[in-house]
Amino acid sequence: MLNSYLLFWSIGMLFFAAEWLKPARPIAYRAVFWRDLFALGVYNLSFLLVVQVTDRIPVPQYLPVALYNLPTAGKLLLFYIVEDFGLYWVHRLMHTSLVWPVHRWHHSPTSLYWLAGIRATIPHIALFNLTYVAALPLLHDASAWAFPVIMMEHIARNNWMHVNVTWKSSWLEWVFVTPRYHHIHHSSDPAHQMKNLGALLTIWDRVFDTYYNPDDLTGELKFGLSERVNPVRLVIGV
Ligand SMILES: [Zn+2]
Ligand SMILES: [Zn+2]
Repeated sequence: MLNSYLLFWSIGMLFFAAEWLKPARPIAYRAVFWRDLFALGVYNLSFLLVVQVTDRIPVPQYLPVALYNLPTAGKLLLFYIVEDFGLYWVHRLMHTSLVWPVHRWHHSPTSLYWLAGIRATIPHIALFNLTYVAALPLLHDASAWAFPVIMMEHIARNNWMHVNVTWKSSWLEWVFVTPRYHHIHHSSDPAHQMKNLGALLTIWDRVFDTYYNPDDLTGELKFGLSERVNPVRLVIGV
């Protein structure tokens, strides 16, 4: 647990440094950091609660026997493809009017930087965690190192998607989500809503018609909600 926190903040310091060197937009850190530190506390507690339930879901073993001897790297690849496909559809579901309240808090920051994406309600964490649980059988008999690697990759990735940097890579975006790619998803412009829903891979957005090419962006992005919501309801997700 202590190692996880150390790694979390070590990576966070690197993101802070990148944002200080090449910021995409000015961020009033003093105005938002303590709020996001509170959100991080809520996230950590919520995650501990959520896994008490999701870890007990009996998911049948569906990895074909022929693939049992696949190297751990191969199983990880399968795991990430299946999990990411699930994450895309869960995220898309969260943008329907019925489920939107559980995801609204995540879209509330008006300034995006690495820690701003940590805002997540309990049902938000639970729904996303279900995709992890559903993909777990693909790691049947995988080496033990795969699991802490996935956990830290998930945390680092969520923070990475929100980093406030000018850095861009059009070629990397053919496959992977980058900060500027995800920032479009946070835009309050109706033209960007329901766009770039991908978490790790950009292919689902291309295949399912929710892709917005960051190179096509003109003008400055504005972030945040277009509705006023009671802060307690925002954090609880109702
Ligand atoms: Zn969203
Ligand atoms: Zn986000």
